[in-house]
Amino acid sequence: MPLSIAIIGAGPGGFYTASALIKSHPDCRIDFIEALPTPFGLIRGGVAPDHQSTKAVSRAFAKTAGHEGVAYFGNVRLGQDVSVAELRDTYDAVVLALGAPMDRELEIPGGDKPGAFGAAAFVGWYNGHPDFVDLNPDMNVERVCMIGNGNVALDIARVLVKTPAEMATSDLPDYAAKAIHGAPIREVTIVGRRGPAQAKFTNKELSELKDMANCVPLVAPGDLTKDLPDGPNNQMSERDRRLAKKNLATFRDFARRDPTDRRKRLRFQFYAKPVEALGDARIEGLRLERTRLQNGRAIGTGEFFEIPCGLVVSAIGYRMVPIKGVPIDAETGVVRNRCGRVGPGFYAAGWAKRGPTGVIGTNKGDGDAVAALIAQDAGPGGKPGREALEALLRARGVRWVSFQDWQRIEAAEIAAAEPGAPRRKLIRIKDMLAVLGQDSAESQAIADNCPCVIGRSGNISQE
Ligand code: NAP
Repeated sequence: MPLSIAIIGAGPGGFYTASALIKSHPDCRIDFIEALPTPFGLIRGGVAPDHQSTKAVSRAFAKTAGHEGVAYFGNVRLGQDVSVAELRDTYDAVVLALGAPMDRELEIPGGDKPGAFGAAAFVGWYNGHPDFVDLNPDMNVERVCMIGNGNVALDIARVLVKTPAEMATSDLPDYAAKAIHGAPIREVTIVGRRGPAQAKFTNKELSELKDMANCVPLVAPGDLTKDLPDGPNNQMSERDRRLAKKNLATFRDFARRDPTDRRKRLRFQFYAKPVEALGDARIEGLRLERTRLQNGRAIGTGEFFEIPCGLVVSAIGYRMVPIKGVPIDAETGVVRNRCGRVGPGFYAAGWAKRGPTGVIGTNKGDGDAVAALIAQDAGPGGKPGREALEALLRARGVRWVSFQDWQRIEAAEIAAAEPGAPRRKLIRIKDMLAVLGQDSAESQAIADNCPCVIGRSGNISQE
């Protein structure tokens, strides 16, 4: 009997798993179960709107979705429309590729004041993710602080300071463009608790900041002479050492820039850890403690200073949403698994497996590993799979979205795009379903019945 495999989550982790399975088990049947009508996970909702070339991988994913053994069940929420236990009963193998969509909290006093957001929520907001479009951040601010020295912090900072002309070929939704380009932002500070050589920025992304039309990147020259890649504070791999050296060369270039060269400034503040969010009704600044490195770790020096700012976004990592039937490690925030194996016939791939690290292509290795595990474990197959899922969803009145449905939604987005822009995203589930001619009371009720609520930090929680 051909194997029936359910992949939960239609982002890069899910799609690389499907394409590996198509090669290793050519006659298997693969069903994607995805909470949103729209596929591609972080490609659509996480990758920055001005990084369209990164999003091009979705064309390869669409080919995978078009394979004859593959079906897409979008607009099906795990834990609401179908449970993990039901999927494990129905399919020979179930792969968790749910990503890690919740922000790690910045645990400082005042860190939950209005004006403070996590990156998952803030990026979801400017990327038109239906769960975050109502985040409504107050953008009437001159100064912004980003916490974290990874590519997500860079993405957000860049989107906040680029000009409308620089974003014209992006798919930034209209409401976010209006809020961001109408904001009086003068300065964005990216705060790192360690030094420039320890930052996790990739050099391609860091170097992009050199040529912005209206913003100059700045760094204090004194920060570029401490804790160098070959110094005693750094037991780096050769790969990390090469990256750190490239980044330092880019930072040296930033350190020579004239701060008055452009109207906006993007400052890198290294060796500083946030200790308190200041302000009464909302954030008015951050109090930070200067740090020094000891055995590669940031240690507080007891010297404090403040940065005024009206918006704080922490980009300090992600974790998974708790879901019944999914064992999540409290410490790491990812699925408890051994090299991708979660239990009998139960697997994990992508960020759900290994945490929020690596680039899109890193997920390919996870997909190959899951396909190899399924090949090792596979019994005779024979579970009912797709037909049983369809019957169950029909009985529950769930209006699932097929891949052909998604292609109609996408065609509507492309048709509505401004000249030069790739698409105008539909941001509400009811508007996506309306494209399909399913604007019925039932579809509306399904769309409005999402159990997710956005907390003050922007994190999703289950009611
Ligand atoms: P990341 O690269 O792991 O960076 C997280 C940053 O947060 C680190 O600088 C970390 O500092 C800092 N941090 C953690 N806890 C902190 C705390 N309590 N206080 C202050 N700082 C804290 O994560 P990310 O930026 O979220 O990116 C996730 C993954 O997606 C990465 O692999 C990234 O490369 C990838 N990504 C790639 C692109 C691209 O290729 N264009 C774009 C976006 C994301 P320490 O180092 O000191 O722990």
